[in-house]
Amino acid sequence: MIDSNDTIEAEIETVDVLIVGSGPTGTSIALHLVQRNPDWANRILLVDKAVHPREKLCGGGITHMGQNILADLGLTLQPTHFDVREVKLIYDDQSYSFLGDPVFRIVRRSEFDHWLVQECEQRGVTISQGEAVKEIAVAQTHVVVTTDQRTIHAQMIIAADGSKSFVRSKLKWNDHGNDGLRVARLVEVDTPEDPAVTPEFRDAVAVFDFSRMVDGHLQGYYWDFPSYVDGEPIMNRGLFDSRAQPKRPKAKLKELLRGELATRGRDLDDYKLKGAPIRWFDKNAEIARPRVLLAGDAAGVDPLMGEGISFALGYGPVVAETIEDAFRRHDFSFDSYRPRLMKTGLFRQLQMRVQVARFAYILKYPRFFRAGWAVANRAIKLTRWRNPNYTPSQLPVLK
Ligand SMILES: Cc1cc2nc3c(=O)[nH]c(=O)nc-3n(C[C@H](O)[C@H](O)[C@H](O)COP(=O)(O)OP(=O)(O)OC[C@H]3O[C@@H](n4cnc5c(N)ncnc54)[C@H](O)[C@@H]3O)c2cc1C
Repeated sequence: MIDSNDTIEAEIETVDVLIVGSGPTGTSIALHLVQRNPDWANRILLVDKAVHPREKLCGGGITHMGQNILADLGLTLQPTHFDVREVKLIYDDQSYSFLGDPVFRIVRRSEFDHWLVQECEQRGVTISQGEAVKEIAVAQTHVVVTTDQRTIHAQMIIAADGSKSFVRSKLKWNDHGNDGLRVARLVEVDTPEDPAVTPEFRDAVAVFDFSRMVDGHLQGYYWDFPSYVDGEPIMNRGLFDSRAQPKRPKAKLKELLRGELATRGRDLDDYKLKGAPIRWFDKNAEIARPRVLLAGDAAGVDPLMGEGISFALGYGPVVAETIEDAFRRHDFSFDSYRPRLMKTGLFRQLQMRVQVARFAYILKYPRFFRAGWAVANRAIKLTRWRNPNYTPSQLPVLK
């Protein structure tokens, strides 16, 4: 319950669970709590420094994993989205493709996150937008959170405040002094398109081009994601640099993106360049302390492909279960959080991606890439992904 306490000089509100951040992580946690028991709606408070619909730097690609988590909540994707029918993986003059109906969907994050916020509110959850958390002090019996508007005493808090998590830094959270090593770098631009002319729009193709791994120090890929922004066709183009091998020289992302755009007949200077990090998951990293949980980008997502939305949504059911158990047992140590995460198929897959990324992004020999692409080209034809009518969203949810 949110109560005010008039006896204290400055008004203090109390709440059972305070969720900092209302992106896919924060909203998924709230939706899963309320799904478990509608009474949670009165026991949780989400605060977000932004006001939705707010801009969030992101390609907006959502795979079947994220869509299935939404489906488990009884939600079908409402915001405008682009259905990708072919994912083309390129290395120089070679390529192979995954086909499907769709392979994945592309949303605009401002619209997607706003929709999730509205779904929370429709279930009675309070979301205070335009309220930034400024101070946090963890006491034995509660957490004192000071925002730019008030002081809140919470039984526990969840950091769902993104890859530059304020909660993490305020509580001096680091991964054994090694925190900087788990952060991927991303840059992107939006280019307006004529859908009748641009082949990726016309044929519903998303591109992942790994060619710059060999000659550009890129530990990742260039992407082309066709999408709609306020109904207008926009190509989201960017670079993902996992930095899975942190000791290797850093790619010059701006220069590389300039080159990639030039080969597509575009001049980088004509567009607004934006950049943001993604924190990647590590099953051994600290993700909980007494009365505090990290989730979503604040805890870590995928270093292999930079997929974060599905995993952000996927923290929801596990955090909800962990919270319910903590209140039932009056034990807020959260020792069970990590084992609960790692029990799920989704997070075991995430950990596998961490391991694959460390291996895949060590490679830099053209001969290896050529051989790999030739093998993949044949192998894909033996899978369901060769079929343009394949619907991966019918795959069982990874639990
Ligand atoms: C360029 C780029 C492209 C990407 N493309 C894809 C993609 O195509 N597909 C994919 O799956 N993933 C992609 N990702 C990753 C994906 O965007 C993230 O994994 C995802 O947004 C994580 O969600 P989140 O809810 O944890 O954090 P966020 O979405 O970042 O939400 C955090 C929220 O916390 C709020 N907040 C922050 N500080 C405070 C504070 N002090 N007080 C109150 N509120 C606060 C913010 O306003 C924000 O609303 C991309 C990331 C980047 C950077």
